[in-house]
Amino acid sequence: MLEERAIDPFIQLTDVARHYTVRGGLLGARQGSVHAVDGVTLEVLRGETLGLVGESGCGKSTLARLLLRLEQPSSGRIVVDGQDLARAPAQFLAAYPRKVQMIFQDPFSSLNPRWSVGATIVEPLAIHGVARAARAARLAELMERVGLRPELARRYPHEFSGGQRQRVAIARALALNPDCVVCDEPVSALDVSIQAQVINLLRELQRDFGLTYVFISHDLSVVGHVSDRVAVMYLGRLMELAPAEELFAAPLHPYTRALLRAVPVPDPTRRSRAARLGGDPPSPLAPPAGCPFHPRCPEALPVCAQAAPAWAEVAPGRRAACHLHAPA
Ligand code: SF4
Repeated sequence: MLEERAIDPFIQLTDVARHYTVRGGLLGARQGSVHAVDGVTLEVLRGETLGLVGESGCGKSTLARLLLRLEQPSSGRIVVDGQDLARAPAQFLAAYPRKVQMIFQDPFSSLNPRWSVGATIVEPLAIHGVARAARAARLAELMERVGLRPELARRYPHEFSGGQRQRVAIARALALNPDCVVCDEPVSALDVSIQAQVINLLRELQRDFGLTYVFISHDLSVVGHVSDRVAVMYLGRLMELAPAEELFAAPLHPYTRALLRAVPVPDPTRRSRAARLGGDPPSPLAPPAGCPFHPRCPEALPVCAQAAPAWAEVAPGRRAACHLHAPA
């Protein structure tokens, strides 16, 4: 199945960067730049779930905002459904919310507390000119599809549980029948039992509507559970990409291995191994030369502090940026 998808990428990122200029002092002088996303080359295949993992601040959410067109890349190329976004006609961009939608981490802050959930769900339809009667019919359909009784549409977000609010957010994201949904930590704010329900709902919706997901999380257990392939990010760059099963069974990159070792062990008789991911990531204002992971890497070579490893195919369907796995 993955091979079939490989010839049909829905999103293609080529050397995409998003840098922010940092200014300070009385005169607002330029003090440097933060490389939030730095040279990312990646495809999201139609119909797959691509997991995107990494520590807080690694650039996952900035990448999501680039995919949503909430931000523009500083350089590089983003192609969605065959269209280069930098050259896309106005008509394509106006209809872009029908291509890519987003579900946020905290459904409470992403829903307008002054609006009934019904008004929230159908707002994208109103913006795109769908008639009132058609909106009402679509609202009932969407609420049922996400497991909410349509009569709850008149209620307000504070009257719902966290899981129900996330169902409302999912219904809103699906209102325009998008091809792709970027899920940014969609279950992180929920109890574990509710997490499973929301994940199952997302899977059902993907199967029924042929959705493509970009699933962003710092929680490797969740990402491993839902993803077809997983991309690992560190300091704005991709470190490894692999089918989920292969990545968890045989991670190649030292950073991936460190992340996996740091997953909390539920058995209290076993020592927690979270401490093995030593130290904090360096400041994105002053990223290290060479491989960005080298100050924390237990396997660093002399070359690692001098030269950044290439993002290269290291096995069929697998890519990594590491001198240990540089192609011959
Ligand atoms: Fe470690 Fe070097 Fe590989 Fe970076 S390139 S992960 S420092 S071995």
